[in-house]
Amino acid sequence: MTKKVKNIAVLTSGGDAPGMNAAIRAVVRACSYYKVNCFGIYKGYEGLIHNEIEELNARSVRNIINKGGTFLKSARSKEFRTEEGRKKAFDNLVKNNIDALIVIGGDGSFTGALKLSEEYGFPVVGIPGTIDNDINGTDYTIGYDTALNTVVEAIDKIRDTASSHNRLFLIEVMGRDAGDIALNSGIGAGAEEILIPEEDMGVDRLIESLRKSKKTGKTSSIIVIAEGDKSGKNIFELGEYVEENLEEDYEVRVSVLGHIQRGGSPSCYDRVLASKLGVGAVEALLEGKSEVMVGIVHKTVTIVPLTTALEKRIHKHDQLIKVADITSV
Ligand code: ATP
Repeated sequence: MTKKVKNIAVLTSGGDAPGMNAAIRAVVRACSYYKVNCFGIYKGYEGLIHNEIEELNARSVRNIINKGGTFLKSARSKEFRTEEGRKKAFDNLVKNNIDALIVIGGDGSFTGALKLSEEYGFPVVGIPGTIDNDINGTDYTIGYDTALNTVVEAIDKIRDTASSHNRLFLIEVMGRDAGDIALNSGIGAGAEEILIPEEDMGVDRLIESLRKSKKTGKTSSIIVIAEGDKSGKNIFELGEYVEENLEEDYEVRVSVLGHIQRGGSPSCYDRVLASKLGVGAVEALLEGKSEVMVGIVHKTVTIVPLTTALEKRIHKHDQLIKVADITSV
């Protein structure tokens, strides 16, 4: 028989994402609602190894639902990747009488949680928190919607200067393995071309397409590029290549949006998603579940094994790619 869960700990790990605070808040308040104790672990697995743990109550998480980042801080921990590191982490969980752990993070954080559970039989539940939307088994990850809106706003501003000067802008957005941010922000901001990691468009087709755009009367262009695109060139090399190979009188400029994509107040969508998943994670633990992720599928909170969450996501971008092609003629 599984032990009754009375003390739940929560941590945020890997890259921070807007909405993580809303998820922590929901976890803490669900614990309060179901009358179990809740502990916050600072700095992810690194803080767990160094016993940076504090009890939280419903009032500890007031005024954070609207804040970006994570008040528990996040970290990347090399030590947790080792068996010795995970032993220290487990010992601290036991020392603090904690009997279950909620991990808010991406696939790396889930891999770590799964190892902890497999090695020590410790109950763990994951909540997908990453701006990349690259986790299998959930339609959305916390932070993705906010990042998308931030990117669209930035591209709108760049478009103003692009069209005033007949400029061609190459804009790099986040997404090492997933083109979700590039594709959706590109369509939302009216980009002429979008390069994503899942598809190799080829630089020559890109040049050809830009030539065609020019012939149809376009005087400026926006190209959105996910950081993990498969052109084989970094964005600056790509900019030079385009400038050298495009005969038209475009000035080429490069803009890397970088960390602004992680920051800012979470969108309402992310706050609601985080609240649903935070409550869902506590309920999953109280129902005796472990080694699972709480995600959202067709607007419904859904539980999937962590092993499924860690599988490669099947990207179904075909419709979006077609829409991008049609709307950029
Ligand atoms: P993001 O998608 O934002 O990068 P992430 O959760 O994938 O988030 P990672 O840096 O990959 O971020 O992982 C976060 C932490 O999880 C690592 O610093 C490490 O402590 C732990 N972790 C990652 N991979 C493993 C692994 N194979 N074994 C044990 N722990 C791991």
